[in-house]
Amino acid sequence: MTESQTTPRPPADADARRAIAPVICYPNEGLPQPNLELYQNARAGAQKTGEVLVPPRDARCFEVPAGHFFRITSVEGSQVGDLNMWSFTDLSERFYSGKTRALHGTHLTTGERMWSSFPHMRPMATIIADTLGWYGIDEFGGSVHDVIGTRCDPYTGNLLSGTQYHHCCHSNLTRALADHLGISLAEAEPAVHDVLNVFMCTGFTRDTGQYFMKASPVRPGDYLEFFAEIDLLGNLSACPGGDCSSEHSSDTAACYPLLVETFAPTEGALEGWSSPARNGYDGTHGR
Ligand SMILES: [Zn+2]
Repeated sequence: MTESQTTPRPPADADARRAIAPVICYPNEGLPQPNLELYQNARAGAQKTGEVLVPPRDARCFEVPAGHFFRITSVEGSQVGDLNMWSFTDLSERFYSGKTRALHGTHLTTGERMWSSFPHMRPMATIIADTLGWYGIDEFGGSVHDVIGTRCDPYTGNLLSGTQYHHCCHSNLTRALADHLGISLAEAEPAVHDVLNVFMCTGFTRDTGQYFMKASPVRPGDYLEFFAEIDLLGNLSACPGGDCSSEHSSDTAACYPLLVETFAPTEGALEGWSSPARNGYDGTHGR
């Protein structure tokens, strides 16, 4: 989007065309709303069922039954995480970053949801607590927990600088999924998908529209907490970018572990809730 000699001359009414007010693509008031109060009350009485410590520059899988909770916590130092998620029983149902972005905006926080891929398209998880919820949108247009980045990967690094780096989030997620399911890397890799960038602070530059990152405001003790709407298989990578203040796709940045904890509600705490059904579209596509 840089200006060049091929940029056409603006028409006489260019300013008027630019001045047209935007319209929200997907007004989301019509979405089925989560009962946050029910979830948060159930969480308050929930018991811890397990934990996984994700090592720096590596990833680990974790399982969360529908109706349970999981929390991702920064420990030891500022660190961002790349989160993948699948239906526990069907790897073809996976987190759909692009549609989640279209529905909720570029960054997620409390009350918003992670939606699954077509033809399933239902809420997989609902965010019920976010200690970085105070951050908002900063003067650069940056915010936290984005669904605009993809995940750092060795292919882009190779394209841009000829590197062979093996601890990008894409590779970490691939290894962890293969190990967890007992499948080969070749079988696991196609299941890895665009992530929720937990704790990462990102945006688009206003002048060139480029994707930017900046030092995450996350500090040890900060957490993001989810309610599992369906049976989930999660996979979290502690990004080699650390707090993503300078670079990723190398061993240069200081990196720290991330803690994933799971919690079970007490009997009857989710009275009235049921796991969402798959999307109601009949799938016939006009034939
Ligand atoms: Zn990464």
